[in-house]
Amino acid sequence: MDKSKMFPVYQFSITFKHKGKIKKAVYEERMYPEELMEEDAKDEMASIMYSFEAKYLRISKNFTQMEFDVVRWEEWHSEYSFHFTFQLFEDEKSAFDSFRAYLKEKVDECRKSGTSTECLKEAEDEALWRLCPCDECKEEGKTTLLHSSLYFEAIAAYQVSKAGENE
Ligand SMILES: [Zn+2]
Repeated sequence: MDKSKMFPVYQFSITFKHKGKIKKAVYEERMYPEELMEEDAKDEMASIMYSFEAKYLRISKNFTQMEFDVVRWEEWHSEYSFHFTFQLFEDEKSAFDSFRAYLKEKVDECRKSGTSTECLKEAEDEALWRLCPCDECKEEGKTTLLHSSLYFEAIAAYQVSKAGENE
């Protein structure tokens, strides 16, 4: 495994008491550019806790345990309607090549295990691929590959606003 292209995916979970019963809430997975220091992981956990609070009031009073662990290493990480990686590419073609290879691996895994490819959120449609041009991605050292027509308008609007800035 080429570790320079693989990034740790963490899963955070909280065990808490609700109406006298012990429940476990597993938070969605998050990928980071490198393994987290203990303190940083705790900070992340605290911010996740805060978002749990918004949904399930007063969990913090009743929680019994917080856990976090690296569940796997990935080249690209899936979010709703887009994938991102902390790899930087020379051009769009190399980014697309890398993503294509990643997808092929995922599709093969799905076929072997007999699961659907639904988890890929229709990322297979190359006609929809766009690299996100925003400054946040650049600042975070991320390459984000959008694969939903929903984003086309957003990107167009962003490019218009950038053009405005440079005038
Ligand atoms: Zn972006």
